Amino acid sequence: MITRSRREVQSNESVTRISQTIGDRSALASALDLPLERLAYSDAADALFRMKAPASFVARIDPADPSDPLLRQILPRHQETETVAGYEDDPVGDLAAGRVPGLIHKYAGRALLIVTGACAIHCRYCFRRNYPYRKQRLDVEQACDYLSRKTGIREVILSGGDPLTLSNQRLVKLIEALERIPHLTTLRIHSRIPVVAPERLDPDLLALLGQGRLKRVVVIHANHPNELGASARAACQALSEQGAMLLNQSVLLRGVNDCAETLAALSLRLFEAGVLPYYLHLLDHARGVAHFDIPREEARALHDALCAQLPGYLVPRLVEEIPGERSKRVIAGEPAGS
Ligand SMILES: *Cc1c(COP(=O)(O)O)cnc(C)c1O
Ligand code: SF4
Repeated sequence: MITRSRREVQSNESVTRISQTIGDRSALASALDLPLERLAYSDAADALFRMKAPASFVARIDPADPSDPLLRQILPRHQETETVAGYEDDPVGDLAAGRVPGLIHKYAGRALLIVTGACAIHCRYCFRRNYPYRKQRLDVEQACDYLSRKTGIREVILSGGDPLTLSNQRLVKLIEALERIPHLTTLRIHSRIPVVAPERLDPDLLALLGQGRLKRVVVIHANHPNELGASARAACQALSEQGAMLLNQSVLLRGVNDCAETLAALSLRLFEAGVLPYYLHLLDHARGVAHFDIPREEARALHDALCAQLPGYLVPRLVEEIPGERSKRVIAGEPAGS
């Protein structure tokens, strides 16, 4: 059992412990034990958004399969360099919604903090792949002032980038600052790290996530059942033991999870790890991601097929984000006709 106090965590200068990172064409080829020319790797796409993936994620790729669903998520491909109408730099209107640098308050009752631009992995389909993180740097003091004034906000969401790339020390400071705001009740963390770099959830990080007065929700992000191995499952179990409620969000992606059997297997694998499916997002149209898109009608049919084979609590809500709306728009939540 972990009983270390926050103070001890804070005094223990800690760094992010993410195993090894694969960050270029030759490192990827050698990790997969493939000749360079077997990878459809585009240097031009890499220059737009650098390739990056933890070695433990790359280890889950099947090198014999050029269309492996995990490889698809990290491999820079030439399609990303093509211009497609309707694909923009700020597809969900985040910049227009920013009141304070790094704070986005679009929806009633909750505010989202972009705490860092760093991620453990660079997902090629990311809607923030072109986000101007440097210009929108979070100012914690200003953000806390804003949150203190807005007494209708109950929940703060740490997002990014990936908030768990911050050092434990910085996380402790940030969470303590939020806990001093009396009307806040819930702290939510949106992170892909429990899935792609579970080794980062060291005892200190687990301890600091388990303490404090705010109710904790951790929303992980897995798109395919192959992403969830034994260590990801153990990381999720450890988070649950710390009292966090665990949910998953996925993005519906061409060539990754555009198949009802895959989505059903993902839900079942999540459930084994103690995680409930929350959202299945339609792709946000950021520049460079058009080849991942799945039309709404096809998405709806996939969702119907999921409803037909899973209990309701294992069916994620199919949603899309429309700039200017007051919540994510639910395209399909329950079985058709109910
Ligand atoms: C998605 C999102 C939230 C959270 O929405 P929920 O429906 O509560 O999950 C909050 N703020 C922003 C800016 C978001 O994009
Ligand atoms: S981890 Fe999240 S924020 Fe980072 S690249 Fe992937 S989808 Fe984008």
